[in-house]
Amino acid sequence: MVALTIKDLYKNFGNTEVLKKINLEIEEGSFIVLLGPSGCGKSTLLNIIAGLESIDKGSVLIDDYDVSKVEPKDRNIAMVFQSYALYPSMTVKENIVFGLKQAKVSKDKIETQLEKVSTFLKVDELLNRKPSQLSGGQRQRTAMGRALVREPRIFLFDEPLSNLDAKLRVEMRHEIKKLYTSLKTTMVYVTHDQIEAMSLATKIAVMNKGIIQQLDDPQKIYDKPNNLFVADFIGSPSMNFIKGFLNKELNSVKFIPENEKNIIFDLTHYNFKNNFESNQKVILGLRPEYVSNIDDKNKNTVKLSLIPSIIETTGFDKNVTFNFSNSEIIGRFSPNSGVELNKKHDVYFNLSQISLFDDKTEIRI
Ligand code: ADP
Ligand code: MG
Repeated sequence: MVALTIKDLYKNFGNTEVLKKINLEIEEGSFIVLLGPSGCGKSTLLNIIAGLESIDKGSVLIDDYDVSKVEPKDRNIAMVFQSYALYPSMTVKENIVFGLKQAKVSKDKIETQLEKVSTFLKVDELLNRKPSQLSGGQRQRTAMGRALVREPRIFLFDEPLSNLDAKLRVEMRHEIKKLYTSLKTTMVYVTHDQIEAMSLATKIAVMNKGIIQQLDDPQKIYDKPNNLFVADFIGSPSMNFIKGFLNKELNSVKFIPENEKNIIFDLTHYNFKNNFESNQKVILGLRPEYVSNIDDKNKNTVKLSLIPSIIETTGFDKNVTFNFSNSEIIGRFSPNSGVELNKKHDVYFNLSQISLFDDKTEIRI
């Protein structure tokens, strides 16, 4: 069942087109993340769903019911903001139950809800404190509590973790995942952080410049990005890009890197999504985990001899940078690889999981 539908939605601020022909169908119980760089229109889209921002063209439907003209408070939606938006003069308890009191919910019901939610979010010991007496994480829990007590049809989150430090952000991300796993309520979550998106979402909508670039499950977005923007935006370190030409022969397809005339990659195994011409200029994308010091004996793995220019240790592995075909290529080497700067090393490129993009349109081929 579809919980939320967005149909041919457009939004301008003055002369700036902020959202262009947005179409989304969000299944009941899914966790959809709107992911994209700052300024791409994520918050505007979320605010439109909440009813806090007007629509220029198109419509928003909740359970097949057009809510475009329905007041925010009547949409059965709860929103958690980056800034928490807590009332500073109220206690944690007062903040959490404020919405229920406004809605004239009975005292008994309010108490039951408060106890359930505050225990779940581990703020039950803090109920009499003011927001100024809370840590960032506790404030965020309180803000989530205020949304949770209302048992809404849909939760909206706008970058709820971006004011927290790195460690707390990971912890709270885990808490939100736990929350979703136990509630299975439909959630729409905005972030510019691709790792947050990958770990939380059942579906990701990657946005750029007011347009949805790809809507897919996280693994599909990672493995088969629709275009160069999505490929580059998802993954850390980023996907490596090598420019070159595709040659179609009778029973094979070859890739010739632009600046490495003696090297040819056999790409006959590649599952082409779109047609291409022989000698077409393309960009080959190869994720760092497929550039390694270890020969995985895959039939699509090629061995090259390259000289590292930068080595970065993560503990889990070493990110090693090489210059290849006038590009910087990053590989993920095992920590005990003994890799050294300015010395030739055998490097294995596993080409079985590559992506190919047209050089001009930047669309996957
Ligand atoms: P995001 O949340 O992805 O960072 P926003 O949805 O906040 O992006 O903003 C998208 C674009 O719309 C930005 O260029 C921003 O400057 C512009 N914008 C947002 N709100 C307003 C507003 N109220 N008036 C004018 N421009 C706005
Ligand atoms: Mg925003």
